[in-house]
Amino acid sequence: VIENLSKTFRDKKDNEVVALHDINLAINNEEFVAIVGPSGCGKSTLLNIVAGLMSPTEGKVYFDHIETSKPPSVSVVFQEAGLFPWRTVLDNVKLGLENSDLSKEKIERRVNKYINMVGLQGFENSYPHQLSGGMKQRVGIARALATKPDLLLMDEPLSALDAQTRQILQEELLNIWNEEKHRTIYVTHNINEAVFLADRVVVLSRRPGKINKIININLPRN
Ligand code: ADP
Ligand code: ADP
Repeated sequence: VIENLSKTFRDKKDNEVVALHDINLAINNEEFVAIVGPSGCGKSTLLNIVAGLMSPTEGKVYFDHIETSKPPSVSVVFQEAGLFPWRTVLDNVKLGLENSDLSKEKIERRVNKYINMVGLQGFENSYPHQLSGGMKQRVGIARALATKPDLLLMDEPLSALDAQTRQILQEELLNIWNEEKHRTIYVTHNINEAVFLADRVVVLSRRPGKINKIININLPRN
C-alpha cells in the first residue's frame, strides 16, 4: 500500500522539483499493475521508493496481507539486466539466494526451475557477454523471480530491446505471470505493453507545478 506519497527533489539551482505529489495506490495480492505516463511524471521515482532505494519526502509504503514477521522481499528488474560479467548465467540467477537459509539442493532446484522458465536451459554456463540483449534480460528476470519476492518491480524491462525481441519477451512474461501470479508493479511508457500484461493500468499524469492525477483502468483477464 502506498499512502499519501510525495517526493520533492532539489535541482542544481536549489529549486524544488516535485516528482510525486500525494500518491495513493494499493496493489492486491496476485495483481499485475502497470504504471504508464509521460516521461518525467515520476514513474521511476515511485518504483525506487517502493523498492526502498529512495526515501519519500512524505507518506509511506507498507505491506499488508503478508503474514510473516520477516520483512517483505522485493525484487527489481531494470532496463539493463545488471548482470555480473564474471559470473555465469547460473551464478547470476543464484545471486539473490546465496544468503538464504535454503539448502544447497533446494537452491540448485530453484535456480534451474527459473532458468528453464525463461528458456535459457543449455546456457547455464555461458557468460553475459555471450548472450544477446533479450537473453540477458531473461537472466535478470529469472534472478528476480528465483527469490520468490513478495513484490516484483519492473522498470521498463523490455525498453532496451528491439521490437521483435520485445514482443517475444512480452509474451513470455505473460506466460510466467499466469504460472506464478506475482504481485507486480511494471513501469513502462508503452501503453500496448501495459494493456497486454496488466490487470490494471495506472496512468500517472503530470502537469508541471500541479499535483499528479491517477487514473485506474481495470482490465479483467478472461
Ligand atoms: P519518469 O520515470 O516518469 O520519467 P522520474 O521519476 O524519473 O520520471 O522523474 C520525475 C521528476 O523528478 C522529473 O521532473 C525529474 O527531472 C525529477 N527527478 C528525478 N530524479 C531526480 C533527482 N535525483 N534529482 C532531481 N530531480 C530528479
Ligand atoms: P535477440 O538476439 O534479438 O535478443 P533473443 O534473445 O530472443 O533475440 O534470442 C532468440 C534465440 O536465439 C534465443 O532463444 C537463442 O536460442 C538464440 N540466440 C540468441 N543469441 C544467441 C547466442 N549468443 N548464442 C546462442 N544462441 C543465441
